[in-house]
Amino acid sequence: MKIAKNTVVTLTYRLTDAQGEFIEQTDEPMVYLHGGYDGIFPRIEEALEGHEEGYKSDLHLEPEDAFGAYDADQVRVEPRSKFPEPIEIGMRFEGVPEDPEEDTEILTVTDLTDDTVVLDANHPLAGVALRFAVEVLDVRAASDEEIAHEHAHGGGHDHDHDDHDHDHDHGSDDPSSLH
Ligand SMILES: [Zn+2]
Repeated sequence: MKIAKNTVVTLTYRLTDAQGEFIEQTDEPMVYLHGGYDGIFPRIEEALEGHEEGYKSDLHLEPEDAFGAYDADQVRVEPRSKFPEPIEIGMRFEGVPEDPEEDTEILTVTDLTDDTVVLDANHPLAGVALRFAVEVLDVRAASDEEIAHEHAHGGGHDHDHDDHDHDHDHGSDDPSSLH
């Protein structure tokens, strides 16, 4: 079966930066509903469209097609007195977004002085060009229910189907899920 809108695709991937430095790979195959449902980056959908089980590709993604450009406005400086000690560069905090509709932001401590803390709300992979070595393991037609829910079921996304308002945590900032 060819990958097209409303097919469910099972794949594995290995993610590196543009220099080939390893970032992560799938432990378990990833399953997503193809066709613009935000299951995976649109550029990857484009590259997979029309291909079948067994297809392998090494895709290059610009930051804009992956986790976004690095935005210097997302860096802020806060008084160190607001933070628990000890605090170290590389620590992460969950920030409360100004807009409650937005996902919680993850703030990374990128610099410290005696009285200030520099926090960066950019995704750790913002501004990074990526290579995805993908392999398609399976392609099947989506069920009506999957299409109605706009995501694939099975593959770790099972849930109570009586609840149509369920809110899966698809971890939009988590590269391991690529959502
Ligand atoms: Zn569902």
